[in-house]
Amino acid sequence: MRISADVAVIGAGMAGVSIAYELSDAGSVLVLEQESRPAYHTTGRSAAMFLESYGSPEVRRLTTDSRPDFDAAGELLKPRPMIWVAPPEQMDRLEAMAAAQPTLVPAPRPETFCPALRPDWCAGALREPGALEIDVMGLHQHYLGGARRRGARIVLDAAVRSGRYEGGRWLLDTAAGPVEAGAVVNAAGAWADRVASALGVEPVGMRPMRRTAAVVRASGVDRDWPIVGDVGETFYFRPEGVGVLVSPADETPSEPCDARPDDIDVALAIERVNEATVLGLRSVHTAWAGLRTFAPDRQPVAGADPAAPGLFWLAGQGGYGIQIAPALARLAAGAVTGKGSPVPAALAVARLRSS
Ligand SMILES: Cc1cc2nc3c(=O)[nH]c(=O)nc-3n(C[C@H](O)[C@H](O)[C@H](O)COP(=O)(O)OP(=O)(O)OC[C@H]3O[C@@H](n4cnc5c(N)ncnc54)[C@H](O)[C@@H]3O)c2cc1C
Repeated sequence: MRISADVAVIGAGMAGVSIAYELSDAGSVLVLEQESRPAYHTTGRSAAMFLESYGSPEVRRLTTDSRPDFDAAGELLKPRPMIWVAPPEQMDRLEAMAAAQPTLVPAPRPETFCPALRPDWCAGALREPGALEIDVMGLHQHYLGGARRRGARIVLDAAVRSGRYEGGRWLLDTAAGPVEAGAVVNAAGAWADRVASALGVEPVGMRPMRRTAAVVRASGVDRDWPIVGDVGETFYFRPEGVGVLVSPADETPSEPCDARPDDIDVALAIERVNEATVLGLRSVHTAWAGLRTFAPDRQPVAGADPAAPGLFWLAGQGGYGIQIAPALARLAAGAVTGKGSPVPAALAVARLRSS
């Protein structure tokens, strides 16, 4: 039997459920997810940070605009200040960062905030006192539950295999049966370009990049330590579970897939954190990897596709898709209903179609 809706959203990660929540007040919404559970891919694998000093000016604006939504949704944020550290060869970057970003304050003795840091390794440091840790699954559940309460249907095991636009409606062939919708939102994360192709629409050049994280056993870790990362983005660590969460901040190009960690990347993270600290990390408790997906200019992609009637994008969130989810979903939902603020040119699909 064919399922009909005003809007079909493809993907039940943070992007899909956040826009479903925003749209489900305005009409019938169907979320189609290929896996048997939502948030299985990148959304379930993040480092859960909210950093107003991270990303392009547009991303930083979306982050700041999202903050009131996190507060309104309940206890989804807890303080976790960020310390950006620089060895001597990264001091230029540190100075540029300090000049560009008013949320950062100098941290002349970063070891007072994280005593594990080696003072002789750090040539300089900046502190983002307002950085926060996100309850990612809490936010996902807020949107998923909220969308359901507003009448949205979430269909799992429903991979979208193909689709065509006919008579002003999208007709989708999915693993859960045929679907008909007035509009389609492509919120398929690493698969966003594949989904576009399946709908007969030209891809925009999305690049999924693998990023690795691990929890490594450590003693003497204070739960209140900040997250620490180098300005050159070669590692970060913060307290987590039996020790610390570490990442080599890797960006390895990948096909869309169920990403797995490579032992070499885990070892690299441990080596880099050990160079900068006295933690002496050795024993890995658990490791994982996820795909951070970027458009060619590394800006998110939101709103109507000028090359395809009734098709909207909410993709390319890279390493910021949790912290910008509220503001980006509102923006993209406004494009679907035609009642929101225009999508800024730097984020619009048209910028990737003009050349
Ligand atoms: C190690 C790591 C650390 C990170 N740290 C942070 C952080 O600290 N802060 C932050 O804000 N962000 C962080 N991110 C980035 C963030 O996790 C992502 O930007 C965000 O999760 C992307 O959400 P999404 O919904 O677009 O993608 P996904 O969660 O991958 O969801 C896309 C969904 O689409 C589904 N799908 C694909 N194709 C189809 C199809 N044909 N039919 C039906 N369904 C389909 C997939 O199964 C998937 O469930 C991190 C990412 C990683 C990997």
